[in-house]
Amino acid sequence: MEKRNIAKRAHCLVLAYPLQGHINPMLQFSKLLDHQGVRITFVTYHFYYNNLQKVLPPSFALETISDGFDQGGPLHAEDHKVYIDRSREVGSQSLAQLLEKLGKSEDHVDCVVYDAFFPWTLDVVKRFKIVGAVYLTQNMTVNSIYYHVHLGNLQLPLTAHEFSLPALPKLQLQDLPSFLLTYAEHPYTLDFFLDQFSNIDKADWVLCNTFYELDKEVADWITKIWPKFRNIGPNIPSIFLDKQYEDDQNYIVEDFDSEECSKWLNDKPKGSVVYVSFGSLAMLVDEQMEELAYGLRECSNYFLWIVRASEEIKLPKDFKKKSEKGLIVTWCSQLKVLAHEAIGCFVTHCGWNSTLETLCLGVPTIAIPHWSDQTTNAKLMTDVWKIGIRAPIDEKKIVQRETLKQCIRSVMESNKYQEMKSNATEWKILASKAVSEGGNSYKNIIEFINSLF
Ligand code: UDP
Repeated sequence: MEKRNIAKRAHCLVLAYPLQGHINPMLQFSKLLDHQGVRITFVTYHFYYNNLQKVLPPSFALETISDGFDQGGPLHAEDHKVYIDRSREVGSQSLAQLLEKLGKSEDHVDCVVYDAFFPWTLDVVKRFKIVGAVYLTQNMTVNSIYYHVHLGNLQLPLTAHEFSLPALPKLQLQDLPSFLLTYAEHPYTLDFFLDQFSNIDKADWVLCNTFYELDKEVADWITKIWPKFRNIGPNIPSIFLDKQYEDDQNYIVEDFDSEECSKWLNDKPKGSVVYVSFGSLAMLVDEQMEELAYGLRECSNYFLWIVRASEEIKLPKDFKKKSEKGLIVTWCSQLKVLAHEAIGCFVTHCGWNSTLETLCLGVPTIAIPHWSDQTTNAKLMTDVWKIGIRAPIDEKKIVQRETLKQCIRSVMESNKYQEMKSNATEWKILASKAVSEGGNSYKNIIEFINSLF
């Protein structure tokens, strides 16, 4: 894409929920807008300012608003409900103040792209007569399931075991977003996710981080309901996708050393390493960590395992963090790792970004979903996109070491590998086409940008 040369630049505020899995894709989408001449002000909560300040592209401005818990966000609230209620109230007021401030200056805002986790944004932007574009960070199968619950088409508590919903594959209980099954214990969590759809019909644009070929049927179905629905993904750095922008190598301006992983991977044979990561949030029980650790140590492949600092204490005491066989680090540049030719498969918790990343880099998977949308993503990965297998769990919901070893063998050593690898490679090609000039997501992004000028 050539950068637009125009006297008046459109100004977009991009309001992202302060979680890695939300910041990453919304930043990436913002970079595409920026490349097309849109001026970007990235907005998040005060308590998250330090995490973003040094890592945003230099052309972006950064503003913050309050969630009512400026010292530490949700961790400082008594419980989830208190946090949601207060952040909605304080966040709305604080966003209105920011829009007022920017409106008085040269920085007048033309559009607010807001994370669907902030549905209250729409009421605020409508008051200011600004365009409101909601950005969905989860995939369209998951979004449409929540939408059906919101509409009352799928009633809780669930009594059936199998579900047929428009434009979706048949789903079993274990394939539904986990919060539908835990509604009785955590009603506010599900309410929070359903709230994304409370006013979505009124948004000027509904943007989703996916591409058409991935969920064609549901995209066609939902476009009849939300005419301004557009898939605009995958929002991952260009160098791992269509390579339009050579300098777009990571979500953020990297602020940690990723050399160690590359060095360790460089002397491993092609396709020989199992990469293991459960994303930025999942907290595994001690027994699960132990079973993973011994399963990886006893399997016949090399492994690279991301264990966040807060989870390290759960590793067995005698477990080495670095050996010829395995490397454990607290964080890595996941895209660089997945793109490394030594990687054979990805043991993943199936967060939506990790799912898109593995599809875009053509890496087969072993799915160990933890919660939320991950269970549905695991279903799609294994039965619809056919790029991996789901690890069976026991009655305590643990993947035992023997099961993990068996899964690794059946992905890495069987004929199935070639089949999954070739499916994954096809998705990789389709993902790249979607964002390349003339591709479906590309056209949608251009349509959206043109509407701002
Ligand atoms: N990620 C990373 N390094 C790691 C682990 C994760 O860069 O060591 C990134 C990963 O590439 C993805 C994001 O963190 O973009 C995790 O998002 P996802 O939706 O997969 O899971 P979540 O963390 O929201 O559960």
